[in-house]
Amino acid sequence: MSELDKYKQKRRIGRTPEPKAEKRRSDSGRVFVVQKHRASHLHYDFRLEDRGVLKSWAIPKGPSLDPAVKRLAMAVEDHPLDYAQFEGVIPEGEYGGGTVMIWDRGDYRPEGTDDVEAALRKGELKFVLNGSKLKGSWVLIRTRNTQWLLIKHRDSYASPDDVAVSQPTSVVTRRTLAEIAAHEGGDVDKAATGDPQGSQRTGTKDVGHGNVGQAARRPSKKTLRERRNLR
Ligand code: MN
Repeated sequence: MSELDKYKQKRRIGRTPEPKAEKRRSDSGRVFVVQKHRASHLHYDFRLEDRGVLKSWAIPKGPSLDPAVKRLAMAVEDHPLDYAQFEGVIPEGEYGGGTVMIWDRGDYRPEGTDDVEAALRKGELKFVLNGSKLKGSWVLIRTRNTQWLLIKHRDSYASPDDVAVSQPTSVVTRRTLAEIAAHEGGDVDKAATGDPQGSQRTGTKDVGHGNVGQAARRPSKKTLRERRNLR
């Protein structure tokens, strides 16, 4: 059974909103996408197009621009190419249930080889990303079994900045996870736990005027939830 078949077996087409697998190749043939995914745990799905599928790794802490930081990347099953377009809510109880954001995307170029499959089989792939948040040279190295490390190479795009915190929103729609969940019928409270503290835009703007006592009081959790659900 192919890796893509494993994915299709887990999915129940028609029950969930992700696209069906139809497309065979992107224009460049080398798309990459990073999808921030608040499922049972927050993680970042790092995907590289090769031979018509998205080779995929789940990175709990997300990519780091700091070459001194090695990020654990768990290899997961290939995903269909069309999945790179998906941002929205997968219903709870379904495979990957939760909120999905397109956190970054662009093209990539393998370094030192044209054969991505062979490089991955050997357990080391160097590549250059041309995304909005992620650029420059990187490497994926297998440490054992399905366990890999994603590491930034030293170049002009390396930075000590924690890009997952400084740039937390969708590269396509600029939405936070909570906003995606609110717009698309997801679990807003659960999604919000994947947004950095302070990125929620339910701030003080819509606290009522003319009632200082009310405005000064911290809104209850229930009020915040209701407010978020309205958006
Ligand atoms: Mn995922």
